[in-house]
Amino acid sequence: MRSEELTPVAIVGGGPVGMSLALALHKQGIAAKIFDARGRGAGLDDQRILALSYGTRQTLEWLGAWQGMDATPIRTIHISQRGHGGRSVIRAEQEHIPALGYVVSLRELYRVLDAAVAAANIVYHDNTRIEVVNAEVRHVNFLAGGETCRAQLVAYAEGIVDNTADINRHDYAQHAVTTIVSASEAPQGRAWERFTAQGPIALLPFGHAFALVQSCSPEIAGALTTMPATEFLAQLQDCFGQRLHFTGTGPRHSFPLGLRYRHEAVAERQVWLGNAAQTLHPVAGQGFNLALRDVRELARTLTNAVDSGAPDLLHRYAKKRQLDRRCTIGFTDTLVRLFSNDNPLLGHACGAGLLGLDLLPAARSFLARRMMFGARAW
Ligand SMILES: Cc1cc2nc3c(=O)[nH]c(=O)nc-3n(C[C@H](O)[C@H](O)[C@H](O)COP(=O)(O)OP(=O)(O)OC[C@H]3O[C@@H](n4cnc5c(N)ncnc54)[C@H](O)[C@@H]3O)c2cc1C
Repeated sequence: MRSEELTPVAIVGGGPVGMSLALALHKQGIAAKIFDARGRGAGLDDQRILALSYGTRQTLEWLGAWQGMDATPIRTIHISQRGHGGRSVIRAEQEHIPALGYVVSLRELYRVLDAAVAAANIVYHDNTRIEVVNAEVRHVNFLAGGETCRAQLVAYAEGIVDNTADINRHDYAQHAVTTIVSASEAPQGRAWERFTAQGPIALLPFGHAFALVQSCSPEIAGALTTMPATEFLAQLQDCFGQRLHFTGTGPRHSFPLGLRYRHEAVAERQVWLGNAAQTLHPVAGQGFNLALRDVRELARTLTNAVDSGAPDLLHRYAKKRQLDRRCTIGFTDTLVRLFSNDNPLLGHACGAGLLGLDLLPAARSFLARRMMFGARAW
């Protein structure tokens, strides 16, 4: 690391968002360096399974990080609510696309992005924590592993919304229990979203099995991660209903869920992306998908810029992304609050809403396109 060098963009965090940003900037001819506090490859231990939208696939293809990805396509999404009527089915063929989305492990996403970053010769400083960032008029000073460095712009992809910032937060008092479950029937490209009074359940096709995200109270999550497999499968069957018959489960993990987001995702010579800008409930699988839309727009905005941290560019970027960001945060939050309740009146209203959605192809198509492309759906 040479401290007197002025790096156009310094990226804090070499997770999926930081690596995607480095690749997008590289594509647009903008030099960037990644700094990560952990050793390179630490993310390969992550147990999360993600649903990537069709729009995300297109961006990953553009980044050269889709080829060879082990991904299971989602061809239909079945949405229902436990204890109330109404259901809706969204189908890829009705949207004239090969798949509504794809299911990948975060490990696989790390692997493919890391290989693309290495192939592009992007500088990646691992075991290098960024601390003390000071923005000045013409550049930003920061400490990288104790050494002073300079950049035109610092992009934070550090995976967490900083507590000291001006942020909004809401605790859903829910945890997500994740695991892989097998069923007597193969997934055949079907994903299931089921709303229960305890919280939403997402079942995603993952190879020959299903990836499960079951939201519930922290107390129930504690019990679900430790109870015997037969007991776990019985409660899942009870919550899910009889559309599938569960036969096995893998190890279970639990993640606390909340909504946290920065009011502003840009400041003087600084920008926040991915989980560093907003951490969302995984109900609609929007976290990484929203981040990639931000990555694409930021790279586009900085193309051909003499100064990557120029305030007018950051202002323009924030303005362009404002609608999609606000709508995605609001959409995810509304979904959790509306459907995770035991109010019978609200339950019936949501059931009617699902039925209405099923009867209105235009509304269904809009919802599908919103989840695939963000504000581009409009
Ligand atoms: C249960 C669950 C299910 C989910 N499902 C979906 C889904 O279906 N679809 C979807 O789109 N999203 C989903 N998400 C969200 C998705 O996982 C995140 O959006 C994504 O992983 C965030 O990636 P990131 O790169 O922002 O953060 P991270 O992967 O956390 O990476 C941050 C990196 O920054 C480094 N770092 C931190 N601080 C510093 C520092 N000071 N200096 C240097 N390095 C630093 C860390 O070491 C780390 O490597 C889900 C989340 C959960 C919890």
